[in-house]
Amino acid sequence: MSFTKELPREAEIVIVGGGIVGCSIAYHLTKRGVKDVVVLERKQLTCGTTWHAAGLVSMLWPTPTLTNLAKYGHELYASLEAETGQATGYRRIGSLSMARTEARLEELKRSSSMAKVFGVESEMIDNARLEELYPGINPDGVIGSLYIEKDGQTNPIDTTMALAKGARNGGAQIFEGIKVDDILVDDGRAVGVSTERGDIKARQVILAGGLWSRDIANKIGIDLPLYACEHYYVVTENMPDLTRRPVLRDFDKGLYFKEDAGKMLVGWFEKNAIGCPMSRIGEDFCFGEFPTDMDHIEEHLMGAMETFPDFGEAGIRTFFNGPESFTNDNLHLLGPTPEIDNFFVACGMNSKGIGASGGLGKIVADWIIDGYPSGEITETDVRRNNTVQKTQSYIEERIPEALGHTYAMHWPFYQYETARDLLQSPLHATLESQGACFGEVGGFERANWFARNGATAKYEYSYTRQNWFRFSEAEHLGVRESVGVYDISSFAKFDVSGTGALATLQRLSCANVDVETGGIVYTQWLNERGGIEADLTIARLARDHFYVITGIGSYNRDWWHLQKNLLADTKVVDVTMDFACLSVQGPNARALLQKIAETDLSSAAFEFGTGLFAQVAGSRVWMQRLSYVGELGWELFIPAAEATTVFAALQQAGTEYDLCNVGLHALNSLRLEKGFRHWGHDVAAEDNLQQAGLSFTAKPDASDFIGREAFLAAKAAGIPSRRMVQFQLEDPEPMLYHNEPILMNGEVVGYLTSGMYGHTVGASVGMGYVNVPGLNAAAIAEADFQIEVATTPFAAKASMRALHDPDGVKMRG
Ligand SMILES: Cc1cc2nc3c(=O)[nH]c(=O)nc-3n(C[C@H](O)[C@H](O)[C@H](O)COP(=O)(O)OP(=O)(O)OC[C@H]3O[C@@H](n4cnc5c(N)ncnc54)[C@H](O)[C@@H]3O)c2cc1C
Repeated sequence: MSFTKELPREAEIVIVGGGIVGCSIAYHLTKRGVKDVVVLERKQLTCGTTWHAAGLVSMLWPTPTLTNLAKYGHELYASLEAETGQATGYRRIGSLSMARTEARLEELKRSSSMAKVFGVESEMIDNARLEELYPGINPDGVIGSLYIEKDGQTNPIDTTMALAKGARNGGAQIFEGIKVDDILVDDGRAVGVSTERGDIKARQVILAGGLWSRDIANKIGIDLPLYACEHYYVVTENMPDLTRRPVLRDFDKGLYFKEDAGKMLVGWFEKNAIGCPMSRIGEDFCFGEFPTDMDHIEEHLMGAMETFPDFGEAGIRTFFNGPESFTNDNLHLLGPTPEIDNFFVACGMNSKGIGASGGLGKIVADWIIDGYPSGEITETDVRRNNTVQKTQSYIEERIPEALGHTYAMHWPFYQYETARDLLQSPLHATLESQGACFGEVGGFERANWFARNGATAKYEYSYTRQNWFRFSEAEHLGVRESVGVYDISSFAKFDVSGTGALATLQRLSCANVDVETGGIVYTQWLNERGGIEADLTIARLARDHFYVITGIGSYNRDWWHLQKNLLADTKVVDVTMDFACLSVQGPNARALLQKIAETDLSSAAFEFGTGLFAQVAGSRVWMQRLSYVGELGWELFIPAAEATTVFAALQQAGTEYDLCNVGLHALNSLRLEKGFRHWGHDVAAEDNLQQAGLSFTAKPDASDFIGREAFLAAKAAGIPSRRMVQFQLEDPEPMLYHNEPILMNGEVVGYLTSGMYGHTVGASVGMGYVNVPGLNAAAIAEADFQIEVATTPFAAKASMRALHDPDGVKMRG
């Protein structure tokens, strides 16, 4: 189905890959008026993974953004046939998700609440209704189900063809049988592609090559954490009595059921998925499949017969096993790659690409045309993974586990078990010997809590208070009442120096970095729209020498943002692993540290927001007086090799004050009580300083920073129609995690971006954006707020200011 024979020599945009993703991006580009789009498919449209998808198009996604995109996708698929004349097979048949445990029921209820934020209607139903909607179901063991009446299914091939037709109608050219051999790069920019029929120059290249994307990107030095795994379903013979019915998900058995034209398709997400190296897929793969391993699938077939006994009576006509590419965290890889300019990726669909493509095609097209995505997309941004998360050994180990996670319980605080212990703090072994239970972020192991009284340092997951709740409470209160120490060695640390260093950082930072030597500046890096690209601290060590400190979750992203904005004569060195970093916080922090630090720590001599090098227990340590928990405290940057010695001295000196080890879960509850934002959750590229309540950091008179004009315009516009607000539940029982809807006077007005139990205030606390024009302290005081937890609304106290020490007296004392 080549629409033109002659391959153009030039195009505005070349898309590599003619699966549903590539076709959806082409469709949306042309909708926005970009007509000079070329799609290159090595064999035939849909021949990769798209053709054999089961066609489930779910409204229920694990995150708010993806839920919102899925909703758009449904609307699009419902309208495509009328627009293009090409049938899609899209049907709004509804979906049922069953729970066999209380925890699963809670998870479904929490999903239902979250979906409500985006207008996705759902209801919890009992077994009588389940049997009505799904005749023949065996309800034994089912304790409740979620019904989404407007959920759907579609025909993947027909839907892709409709998108392709729509794209072609809009001016795109689609070529089959054209393999892209390489991406052409000039001076760090993608400038086209090469094929056996010649090169095509392009202003932008988009890689939508499905499971081939890692190999293609590798050719130009980009590692994408993608790995294919075998993925199964079976289809029965015709079942004469099979009525039309919703899609059914039996999460606790990892199963789904889809009725299609009188047959039943049954698929699953197994915990022991089989990885599939590219060598097994081969160059010529086209509408291909793998042999069926009956031993591997037997358990799922048996489970399916139990859930829906009629399935056991029907013969199986098709055993299908095909490859699909998965990512390390089950989320897509989207956006411009930092390593090569003008090169976008859209891959890693995790067996949800049919459902996802409508929305992500739109957001990627908008991103390419406007220079930024038309919605919050941080969690799927290709820049989120650190180097250590992209190696072949990492992906082969982690990704099969991630596949199994699709239908597993999505526990709060869940930690993957594979591909661990890659990056460790210099204090890792010491903390482990003292009871640390580690969690992983960005490939870095971090002490999340400490087991006490002989308990085992292992998570026992639940939606209620988990086994570490009381330990974390003791850590939290230890910081508030005396002093605690937590290891934040995972912080990314960039050493920025040279005569251009100040100018570079002034251009990037909305705060004024031109402070006295020893000054510490809390700042954001904005984009041209005033959105928050980064949230970090910068320490001035000397006239032309700075440390830039940021979270491990934004390590790679911030590194590249800095690299791309370097002015002349600026040198940047990544010193992340050169230092351990300890934060000593609490009312007794000064007294404790004064015992081992050879410098005057009095308030007059060592002011809040300053730092200096001091001898601490025999080491030269950079000490900076800051707090992310709202207490008196210092952060200590210690040469890695000397960290255990300094830590031992600190602990010995600390016995007098009951110094306690503190994990990062307690850090999270402490910072939430203090209302401190966390980049990636509470603030990100789509949020501006006014909305986030952070405009105090900006100093527009001090420098011409990126985003200054947008900041000033937003400031001039007055109260934003979306504002960050802190909440505390009145009832001490329910647990907040994040994504819970915020209700103001009974209306859903937003959702929590963070939530945790606040041990000082004695109830769950959270923060989130409230989308209400003119919202100010007076309006908040007059309104009734509730937070919906698993479909039940709970009264909440709301405040624009921090719940703990709003005037910051403690940390500045
Ligand atoms: C068994 C199974 C069931 C599934 N069920 C569902 C479901 O119910 N719902 C759902 O949403 N998703 C489902 N999926 C997942 C879904 O099929 C995929 O997520 C989706 O098709 C991915 O689309 P894509 O465009 O990224 O990849 P692909 O369809 O693989 O498209 C990529 C294309 O790029 C082409 N290509 C590769 N290299 C080159 C090159 N060098 N030059 C030119 N072209 C190239 C390939 O030939 C291919 O056609 C299922 C997957 C499987 C395996």
